[in-house]
Amino acid sequence: MSAHVLVIEDEGALADVLRDNLEAEGYHVSVAGDGVAGERAWTRAAPDLVVLDVMLPALDGYALCERRRAAGDATPVLFLSARGEPEDRVRGLKSGGDDYLAKPFHLPEFLLRVDALLRRRGWTTGTPPVDLLRFGGHEVDLRAWTATLADGRREQLGVREVGILRLLAERAGQVVGRDDILDVVWGDDAFPSSRTIDNVVLRLRRLFEPDPSAPVHIHTVWGVGYRFTPEAEPDHEETR
Ligand code: CA
Repeated sequence: MSAHVLVIEDEGALADVLRDNLEAEGYHVSVAGDGVAGERAWTRAAPDLVVLDVMLPALDGYALCERRRAAGDATPVLFLSARGEPEDRVRGLKSGGDDYLAKPFHLPEFLLRVDALLRRRGWTTGTPPVDLLRFGGHEVDLRAWTATLADGRREQLGVREVGILRLLAERAGQVVGRDDILDVVWGDDAFPSSRTIDNVVLRLRRLFEPDPSAPVHIHTVWGVGYRFTPEAEPDHEETR
């Protein structure tokens, strides 16, 4: 079964090129030519990835993405925009987009980003995506980005928190290196420092560890990365 990519793009020639190239890669592709038609196709077809132009007739890409996120839709979104200014990029990511590509772009880069976004969801690796995660009395909905903690509190999670948690859970018990986390959770274009990963893990521990300074679920493997265990496991010497 191939992943379904919805392309929402009003420039017909570009939409055709994207469709042809995505289909050549084996994806199932549908195309919508404005924001309203795009929203309809998005809600009806439940695609695995949306390629979303920013400047669209009827409803612009940012507004459309914000609406879907407000409705609890966590479908990965790759923004395409003629604007390449940092503030536009920030706007795109703030509206709930997962990645942002400025026009004109090279097709191989576009296809790599599509592949990277789908890999985060477990496509093409053959691993079924983890959607509901239960450990330590917590319940995490990785599609809605919400957590119900053991004490009953409800918390909203961010895109990186969900990304890291999903990756660690899909490889529960295994060591997941920092490079893998960067590649899968941040993608090819961002260069966060190691501290950025640590800060996200810090928040996850504050939420999910009984004692964040002595983690029993999200273990540090010194100098390498992290290891997740759904069952509480005491702090080994691997953890500093
Ligand atoms: Ca446009």
